[in-house]
Amino acid sequence: MSGDEANPFESLQEQIDDAAAYLDTDDDVVERLKNPERVLELNLSVDMDDGSLERFRAFRSQFNGDRGPYKGGIRYHPGVSRDEVKALSGWMVYKCAVVDIPYGGGKGGIVIDPSEYSAAELERVTRSFAEELRPLIGEDRDIPAPDVNTGQREMNWIKDTYETLEHTTEPGVVTGKSLEAGGSEGRVEATGRSVMLTAREAFDYLGTDVADASVAVQGYGNAGHVAADLIDDLGANVVAVSDSSGAVYAEDGLDTRAVKAHKNETGSVSGYPDADEEFSNEDLLTLDVDLLVPAALENAIDEDLARDVRADVIVEAANGPLTPDADDVLTEADVHVFPDILANAGGVTVSYFEWVQNRQRFYWSEQKVNEELERHIVNAFDDLTECYESLDVPNFRTAAYVVAIQRVVNAFMDNGNWP
Ligand code: NAD
Repeated sequence: MSGDEANPFESLQEQIDDAAAYLDTDDDVVERLKNPERVLELNLSVDMDDGSLERFRAFRSQFNGDRGPYKGGIRYHPGVSRDEVKALSGWMVYKCAVVDIPYGGGKGGIVIDPSEYSAAELERVTRSFAEELRPLIGEDRDIPAPDVNTGQREMNWIKDTYETLEHTTEPGVVTGKSLEAGGSEGRVEATGRSVMLTAREAFDYLGTDVADASVAVQGYGNAGHVAADLIDDLGANVVAVSDSSGAVYAEDGLDTRAVKAHKNETGSVSGYPDADEEFSNEDLLTLDVDLLVPAALENAIDEDLARDVRADVIVEAANGPLTPDADDVLTEADVHVFPDILANAGGVTVSYFEWVQNRQRFYWSEQKVNEELERHIVNAFDDLTECYESLDVPNFRTAAYVVAIQRVVNAFMDNGNWP
């Protein structure tokens, strides 16, 4: 995060304040919901392949556990910071509450560029982190999952380290595992699927059909490319996608799966042979499209860029892709923003299904996973729009926070404060 970028933790606190204004709740109770309960900060020392010793800063923030065990991903990125992890852990609390799954929120991260390290080095880094996390995690305490630059491989390593040290089998200690290690059908596509479902419901709510929409997707990783494929499958026209190398555009629509195959082969979307044009990420974000899906990192759209956004609808696949100032500009301009805590909640919802299956040692079909996911997202969408209309809140993000904070407050009040 550069110095002039919005601090994501301050953004989170501002979003909570905006929503709290519509709730009949004590200020003290709201204040309590704006800060993590606990943050672990680590200095991992790990052997490198050449015999040297390298140190890595790592974090785990447990934001709030009123509704259940802490739940949230682990990110490997050079830009990871304490405030970023705190913000991401808070967003998890409200994300789990908005889709009404029985979890609190947590998040972790290591300051590392994984592309610079061998698989053996990454395994030692991950196992070292897992060993430090061991007293805090567990299927009833805190359940990590993948995030940016981590996936099944890292989750399998964390599970194995934990189970080895605890002399047990407890696959529900992490989610996002490979199928063979206790993962769930449908988990890999789940985030992109909830983005698609949110887009479908949003266009329907606004009185149009997403099949007629032109679409741009920023970020072509796990969340972005699955969202692009599934929105394309609804009949929409995905005209532009991007990754950190830049954007590709085709007026008549891209073959989203062919772009992904090109990225798998070459490492980036740039150079995709059937594109009409290539341009910068900034140009993608300001394209005149019906639907924009930011699916890269937080703060992709700031106040200045927001003034140039020409999309009618934004569905946030990434966490925190708009700064609060950008949000204000877009609300003013009547751009309908459907927030991250609903749109990308598919990942954590299917993580919940994975955890349920792990605990029951009974596994579901992909069809059952997708049907249950659709039910959760559509119900959450309806709760959010009902709140949007009944309380006359300014935008869908505020509505989502009102619904979510109320659920966390209810749990806190019912649990009681002790001692
Ligand atoms: P990923 O690492 O698979 O993909 C990130 C993509 O963004 C890559 O294609 C990368 O090249 C691109 N990117 C990075 N900087 C960019 C820039 N400036 N402009 C354009 N593209 C850029 O990560 P992911 O898992 O897809 O996560 C993306 C976002 O979605 C993150 O905010 C993450 O927290 C959120 N999210 C992911 C999941 C999940 O299950 N994967 C769940 C919930 C939320």
